[in-house]
Amino acid sequence: MQQKSGETLFNFGRNVEFKPQVSCQPTSVEEVLEILRNHKGKRIRVSGRLHSWSDVVVAEEVHLDLKHLTSVEIKKQNGASFATVGSGCQIKKLLKELKSQGLTLPSVGLIDEQTVAGATATGTHGSGKNSLSHYIEAVEIAHYDPATGEPVITTISSGLELKAARCSLGLLGVIVAIKFKCRRTYRIKEHIEKYASLKKVLDAEKRYPLQQFYLMPWSWNYYGHHRVESNEPKSKSAFSYRAYWSAIIDVGLHVVVYVLVKLLRFKSVMRFFYKRILPMTMARNWKVVDDSHNMLVMEHELFRHIEIELFVTRSKLPDAVEYVIDTLSVFGGQPTQSGNTQRRNELAQFDGSYFHHYPICVRRVLADDTLISMSSPIKSDGKEDWYAISLISYDWPSRREGFFKFANHLAAEMATRFGARAHWGKYNPLTAEQNARLYPNLQEFNSIRAKFDPDGRFENDWLSKVMRE
Ligand SMILES: Cc1cc2nc3c(=O)[nH]c(=O)nc-3n(C[C@H](O)[C@H](O)[C@H](O)COP(=O)(O)OP(=O)(O)OC[C@H]3O[C@@H](n4cnc5c(N)ncnc54)[C@H](O)[C@@H]3O)c2cc1C
Repeated sequence: MQQKSGETLFNFGRNVEFKPQVSCQPTSVEEVLEILRNHKGKRIRVSGRLHSWSDVVVAEEVHLDLKHLTSVEIKKQNGASFATVGSGCQIKKLLKELKSQGLTLPSVGLIDEQTVAGATATGTHGSGKNSLSHYIEAVEIAHYDPATGEPVITTISSGLELKAARCSLGLLGVIVAIKFKCRRTYRIKEHIEKYASLKKVLDAEKRYPLQQFYLMPWSWNYYGHHRVESNEPKSKSAFSYRAYWSAIIDVGLHVVVYVLVKLLRFKSVMRFFYKRILPMTMARNWKVVDDSHNMLVMEHELFRHIEIELFVTRSKLPDAVEYVIDTLSVFGGQPTQSGNTQRRNELAQFDGSYFHHYPICVRRVLADDTLISMSSPIKSDGKEDWYAISLISYDWPSRREGFFKFANHLAAEMATRFGARAHWGKYNPLTAEQNARLYPNLQEFNSIRAKFDPDGRFENDWLSKVMRE
């Protein structure tokens, strides 16, 4: 087992830096138990690929990287297929192994770089399905036996404990394996269309239940990225469509944004780009059928950025989007788009303090059977869909004060006005008081946590602060 002391670690976004006393890379479950045995009384945290932007990733004392636990075992039970996966396995490796057996995951996010444990511990989601956490059937977890104080492995596969373990922020212990229900591979038909209003793009959801859409800053119109499952064969143009996405969107758009934001910083040029240039690059109405994996996963990790993502329920979405647009407008030195003068006065103190420069992606996430994922229900029988509104900045890490000012304000206001929850794995400035109001099952989660980890060995300073009821 590799073990290092005093190493400084950084997350993907370079907004979180930490220096654990010791960092270990166990190669087996036995070694995980040995680490727990050797570090009794210390605080222990695990990371995956460090793609989170929140302080959830910080390990102050003992840090574990489970990159060697990557086994994938696929089995059939009562006609259904299940994969039991080592917690350090990246989603892309799992998808590859599943594909070789004609299977795939029921839900994936925009990238497939994350580990299965990191993705599910923070409620990672895509569009039109539940988060990946929802599809977990069982979790194998290393923790201290409260009776003996010795490290043990417990398998959680039912009841409230499973709902807690599906999205646990690492607070129940060290996850060593996860069992997912899988589905047969499928194809998706997708195309892009432009809309002038939120209502129109939302109406299209009936026809394209897997869609996500983009609110374009400064033109404030919408592009529906329409997606629906399809039995049609893979399109002949699938390869050129992928090449278009890679060259124009994954690389081209980001290079232009990088240059405009980091070097030129002319707001008028950026506005012109979104109003006039970007629409010309969107291949509208090009309908293509391809494997779900090719369609759903993008190369969003190519350029360093920071993101906050706020979740509101369907009934709050129109007002929440209007509020986001007004806030971005005033922060960007413009009047409110809605013409709401009271709001303009409330926001006046922020006039010109942050200029937003990236499309705002909105994704529908179905209500999860979990306790604290962002799309967990508000009421126990709640089925209302959630919509995740994502705001990204590509500015240099040293020039992010404007983004943080904007994100702190927006998160607090949206929590109060619309009950908006912040993604646990993205920039998350919400306080314990706000989280306690936003997550009605937090108390239940904390009482399960107390059973697995009565002494708080698996928390860090940030989580001790924000998870209080
Ligand atoms: C470019 C990019 C694109 C993204 N796209 C999406 C997206 O489309 N949808 C979305 O919802 N999110 C998205 N995210 C967020 C990302 O999915 C989450 O932050 C996820 O947690 C990252 O996984 P990771 O393996 O890097 O975990 P890390 O960030 O390293 O860890 C996150 C947390 O998971 C827990 N954890 C990890 N492993 C274990 C374990 N073995 N046992 C116990 N706890 C553990 C720990 O608490 C840890 O702090 C994106 C992030 C980036 C950088």
